[in-house]
Amino acid sequence: MNQSTPVTDLKGIGDKTGRLFQKLAISTIGDLLCHYPRDYETFGAPVPVSEAVPGQVCAVYVTVTAFPSQKKVRNLVILNVSVRDASGAMLLTFFNMPFLKKVLKPGGNYLFRGLVQSRGAARVMEQPKLYPYEDYQKQCGILQPRYSLTKGLTNQAVQKAVRQALSLYAFEEEYYPSWIPERYELISREEAFRTIHFPEDRDALSRARKRLVFDEFFDFLLTLQKNKDLAAALPNNYPMYETADTVRFLERMPFSLTRAQKMVWQELKEDLGGPHCMNRLIQGDVGSGKTIVALLALLMCVANGFQGALMAPTEVLAMQHYETITSYVEKYRLAFRPVLLVGSMTAKDKREAYGRIASGEANLIVGTHALIQEKVSYRNLALVVTDEQHRFGVRQREHLAEKGRDPHVLVMSATPIPRTLAILLYGDLHISVIDELPANRLPIKNCVVNTSYRPKAYEFIKKEVASGRQAYVICPQVEEGELEDVENVVDYTEKLRSALPADIQIASLHGRMRPADKNKIMEEFAAHHIDVLVSTTVIEVGINVPNATVMMVENAERFGLAQLHQLRGRVGRGEHQSYCIFVSAREEKETMERLEILNQSNDGFFIASEDLKLRGPGELFGVRQSGEFAFGLGDIYADAGVLKEAKEAVEEILAQDGDLSLDRHRLLREHAEKASGNGVDFRTI
Ligand code: ADP
Ligand code: MG
Repeated sequence: MNQSTPVTDLKGIGDKTGRLFQKLAISTIGDLLCHYPRDYETFGAPVPVSEAVPGQVCAVYVTVTAFPSQKKVRNLVILNVSVRDASGAMLLTFFNMPFLKKVLKPGGNYLFRGLVQSRGAARVMEQPKLYPYEDYQKQCGILQPRYSLTKGLTNQAVQKAVRQALSLYAFEEEYYPSWIPERYELISREEAFRTIHFPEDRDALSRARKRLVFDEFFDFLLTLQKNKDLAAALPNNYPMYETADTVRFLERMPFSLTRAQKMVWQELKEDLGGPHCMNRLIQGDVGSGKTIVALLALLMCVANGFQGALMAPTEVLAMQHYETITSYVEKYRLAFRPVLLVGSMTAKDKREAYGRIASGEANLIVGTHALIQEKVSYRNLALVVTDEQHRFGVRQREHLAEKGRDPHVLVMSATPIPRTLAILLYGDLHISVIDELPANRLPIKNCVVNTSYRPKAYEFIKKEVASGRQAYVICPQVEEGELEDVENVVDYTEKLRSALPADIQIASLHGRMRPADKNKIMEEFAAHHIDVLVSTTVIEVGINVPNATVMMVENAERFGLAQLHQLRGRVGRGEHQSYCIFVSAREEKETMERLEILNQSNDGFFIASEDLKLRGPGELFGVRQSGEFAFGLGDIYADAGVLKEAKEAVEEILAQDGDLSLDRHRLLREHAEKASGNGVDFRTI
């Protein structure tokens, strides 16, 4: 049994269960073993009833004192069971488990585990689990893995599948040369996999995690290094030089570039006219003005007679770039002949666009990644800009190279990554940083509040709308049901319509809408036909509506700080004073303290590092980092130490043996080939 054996080869997993696993993106044994536990639970020794503290999960070993009583409330069957031990009595309540009536006999002894609650003076457990005494004793004190599940698949079932897979799997031989595991104190991969699923204790778990995180980083960095060598060797096939076009554009623009923008523009000009193919990242906080710098490079590109492409991660953002560019073409008489390419266009429109691109009639292609990369043939594509993406992997490069000779690549990102990490993670890219905001900006005013503040917030939105501004309201989910006790866009829009005067135009936007509808709403918001937009985080990246001055985020406690900072970046983009209202439905000290960080600073780098301090490095399972550096286990912030070690190891190996051709690196070479074949490079994009 190996990596690519289908999970349905396991005993007890047929087609039906197989489909459930598929929902968790598990189709092979390899996927299953990499479905790491979400967290772990420890079963404590049973306690006397008198010591079962409300609010805690406890196990009790008790005697049933009377026949269970059953009642029906609507379609719920409720079973009440009185139990006791020498120290006291307790009531157990079960829902829709009528068969327990036959199992639990008065006078019998049973072990239950569940959340203890108090109801008046009485102690209660709702829906506790029943365990055979011996089984429980065996599991006692051991960390139990808890997996992400899907409806119909229990934790027990996943555990069983993983156990079986671990016993049948043929683990690969150690592929590192021996000094690596010795120096970095790495246990074997086999032991790491066994332990990450079924750890003996926290120490063992840390060791297992360290090995697996090290491997993730090592594979990533090894591919990166290859990339770097590849890119460095590429000649500049499309040398370009500044023309009157960009100079005139800069003169006519209503603002002048900031010092940081000017510096980056200078760097781009040097790259594009230099001896090598450009491979550059522009990092700049939200609102720092990355787009204009990219447009200058694209303008230079078309003025030199080549084609350029601008790719965005979402259709909404691609459309917005297209609109901005067309308006500039008219206003400033720019040499762009832009064409839009997004999935929601009709087949006929797409065909027409393909034709204009192939003939060279269109010289600037604006669209979503997939379309631009995969389906288009170009006349002479010389520069590719990707917005809101940090990585442009080998595969993407290959896609484009197939269509011609290697174009220059410029990627732009607002994800705050400290310089020290950026150097490790972007080894193959040159980095430019825009580290200041345009001077006309007023700092955004922030507040962190609880839900009782809502009426005031609505009053405030009303006032802003009356003076001609617009507002965003963000909810974590689309409609009721996926998450408990969390605001959703659909219901909130209705609530807001009744809370605000009827002449205020309110619309909603979320990821489940058809792309064409999303685009329409976004266009209407940009054109100010809509005053208040209730949305999920689909508007998180890139959207630029400078007239919007209020960002209200419901259930702010549900979001990572970096994400909240991105959301906040949607306002404060014009000359008007902007405001951010973070509404937290939870008022514990930690939550409020975390959110207060946003109040203290408007600097993405500072926020990311403070967030890390609060979470603490080395935390086993931190808040999942959204975004593009999502490794299976590793967290670039919390595991920065391991990242450094992996970097050191990769560099040392490649210094000894650049193409891994030595005999002692044979296994490593085979592993690396497999790893990059698996798309390590692509997955981490
Ligand atoms: P981001 O870096 O988040 O992508 P954008 O490029 O969308 O930011 O720019 C945000 C807003 O700032 C836009 O409306 C843009 O026109 C404006 N802007 C960009 N550069 C300057 C500048 N130097 N001075 C004033 N406004 C600017
Ligand atoms: Mg942007």
